[in-house]
Amino acid sequence: MPRPICASISLSALSNNLEIVRRHAPHSKIWSVVKANAYGHGIARIWQSLASTDGFALLDFNEAILLREAGWQGPILLLEGFFSPDDLPLIDQYKLTTAVHSEWQLAALAQARLSAPVDVYLKINSGMNRLGFAPQQVSNVWQRLRVLPQVAQITLMSHFANADSEKGVGQQMQVINQAAEGITGPRCLANSAASLWHPHTHYDWVRPGIVLYGASPSGQVADIADTGLRPVMTLRTELIAIQSLKAGDSVGYSGRYCASDKVRIGVVACGYADGYPRHAPTGTPMWIDGVRCPTLGTVSMDMVMVDLSDCPQATIGTQVELWGENLPIDDVASAAGTLGYELMSALAPRVPVVVV
Ligand SMILES: *Cc1c(COP(=O)(O)O)cnc(C)c1O
Repeated sequence: MPRPICASISLSALSNNLEIVRRHAPHSKIWSVVKANAYGHGIARIWQSLASTDGFALLDFNEAILLREAGWQGPILLLEGFFSPDDLPLIDQYKLTTAVHSEWQLAALAQARLSAPVDVYLKINSGMNRLGFAPQQVSNVWQRLRVLPQVAQITLMSHFANADSEKGVGQQMQVINQAAEGITGPRCLANSAASLWHPHTHYDWVRPGIVLYGASPSGQVADIADTGLRPVMTLRTELIAIQSLKAGDSVGYSGRYCASDKVRIGVVACGYADGYPRHAPTGTPMWIDGVRCPTLGTVSMDMVMVDLSDCPQATIGTQVELWGENLPIDDVASAAGTLGYELMSALAPRVPVVVV
């Protein structure tokens, strides 16, 4: 018998979620963001369920090549562009669309010998201060790109820092509009949060990631409750032992949890080496037999303990859902002080995956 842990990936949830993005952005094309191996879901196993997308966005050449070799013939966008001038032959060979965010990339493009001009995403730094040209440089960069024989279509691109919160996109939109004055051509701005909540940012292309996988861009389940988004990944395992504690007994490494009364606990076959967050404190929810049960003590590499007080019938072999269908990944993430993004993309390679 293999260890009982397993992640199941719902392909119907994935295509449902893409449809929901379409309904929110009916006049835009969609780059389905599949970076980080499709946020941990596995590009190879899921891309066909997103095949009605208009393009795939990612940032690793290996992932782009995997998609091409798997048969995807549509657009592929490199969100961070190329990492070295030596990458340009790959962009040419695999017909990739590339972001250009830095002066050195512009120079490399100008010197490249390509078999055909490439589509370029000119990245504007509108306030995130991560990648992109300063707003006042944009017009100049656009003019220089436009005359390069190596460049086909130019799309303006930027990324929002606060589309999921109160702060919103207003300030960055102002910067983008100013930088783009006098520039005609397509724009691509919206991440998941802006795709759901800021329709005036949609323009020609949107770039949703997290919502495709059914989690909330804000980390709050309530924010996506009425969207119809469905969780794609469900991580399940089983109880492999039961312990009965008396008052004063402690649980796990460092004895971080100490029982104040008699309590029956379960040992769950999942730990941080599976991608379960080690920072999850006592009280992080697990779903067992229809109820939420709190974890107890420190998460170990391969196991974590759970309070079975509300689940007296649970026994060795009882199924435990760590997150997914019945327990939103956002709730587990927020208990552990992180986001669904981090949990799903950190699913460990040792966890077997089934597609349903
Ligand atoms: C990851 C990423 C996205 C998708 O973000 P979500 O919040 O998952 O929708 C969009 N654009 C860029 C540039 C990204 O890096």
